Amino acid sequence: QKARLVINEARAKGATEVVEFQAQEVLRAYNLPTPNTVLARSSDEAVAGADKIGYPVVLKIASPQISHKSDVGGVKVNLPDAEAVRNAFFDITARAQRLRPEAYIAGCLVQEMAPKGCKEIIIGFKRDDQFGPLLMFGLGGIYVEILKDIAFRLAPLGRDDAKAIIREIKSYMLLKGVRGEPPINFQAIEDILLTMSELSLDFPEIQEAEFNPVLVNAEKAVVADVRITLS
Ligand code: ADP
Ligand code: MG
Repeated sequence: QKARLVINEARAKGATEVVEFQAQEVLRAYNLPTPNTVLARSSDEAVAGADKIGYPVVLKIASPQISHKSDVGGVKVNLPDAEAVRNAFFDITARAQRLRPEAYIAGCLVQEMAPKGCKEIIIGFKRDDQFGPLLMFGLGGIYVEILKDIAFRLAPLGRDDAKAIIREIKSYMLLKGVRGEPPINFQAIEDILLTMSELSLDFPEIQEAEFNPVLVNAEKAVVADVRITLS
């Protein structure tokens, strides 16, 4: 019901995209693992948030008009202390202001860092007028564009479909672990795929959703970035 509220609110505003901080609420309503995140409107709030979350943290530009944050230098990871957070806040907001003068800058999201050595995965769906939601799974981060190593399935997805789609990508062996690396937590990724399938069927007005990246290691997975586009 919380998810419904968030989506309705975004639609009422006439938005075609749900802002990240709100989209996280949708994920939490579906019990999806999200990193601890606070919205900071000032550098003081950013430091207070980081103190609470624990270092190192990530800072991300928070603006309804900026959905590809890295494109404007809007993401800084691995910030070790309060001073780094303060500088990053000024840096990120000033740069965004300069590069996107029309954008309303709410501040920055302060976010818990995922543990080292995580693999980046992308999980999403696009709604097809004829066939309904088409789910997508692949290696995330910088690899998406370069390798185009992505597998597709129409919703609804069952556990067996989730297992199969994961095995379909060429980089599957990377996820199983190379050179004595442990395999990623496959069940956690299957769970996220199944939830994405559910989300796509529960909300016909969501045109596209993308978790990129989902950060996963041998223990767990977290959805570190989410984009929800409405029709
Ligand atoms: P965008 O896709 O809008 O540029 P992201 O939130 O995906 O911004 O962040 C860009 C990159 O920063 C991610 O692909 C990931 O490599 C890294 N990153 C983002 N959030 C975290 C996090 N919580 N922990 C560790 N790395 C992160
Ligand atoms: Mg991203």
